[in-house]
Amino acid sequence: MISIQKAQILDLTKYAETEYPIECCGLLIGRFDQGNIIIEEIIPSQNIAKGDTRILFEIDPQIRINTQRRLRNSPQKIIGHFHSHPDAPPLPSPTDLNMAIETELIWAIVSVYSGIVNEVKMYGIDISGNSFNEIDYRVY
Ligand SMILES: [Zn+2]
Repeated sequence: MISIQKAQILDLTKYAETEYPIECCGLLIGRFDQGNIIIEEIIPSQNIAKGDTRILFEIDPQIRINTQRRLRNSPQKIIGHFHSHPDAPPLPSPTDLNMAIETELIWAIVSVYSGIVNEVKMYGIDISGNSFNEIDYRVY
């Protein structure tokens, strides 16, 4: 189970709507607590994908480096990342599956239609690296 604060869901929603019609992306920061994952911070990144950013995303690697450095002595970690699907459902695309290399990371996908977020889903990657598994989350 994943827990995320309402403020973080609102940040995520606002950011996805602001970036529409391009895919927004960024990091999910949080910690593990007795088998549960708690998302505590959203770090937006510019989408630096080369190509059509309405269907592709790439997180700026410098943001990841800076974040890892900042969290070095913290219980918080980069526990995953997020991106949006403009005018598409929050289901992992074949491109997403190709990018699913780090099997320990959570994926959050934000579906945005006509500039309005309609759904956020979260996924883990199967240990085989060949499929996504949806993970329930609660907003508190
Ligand atoms: Zn995607």
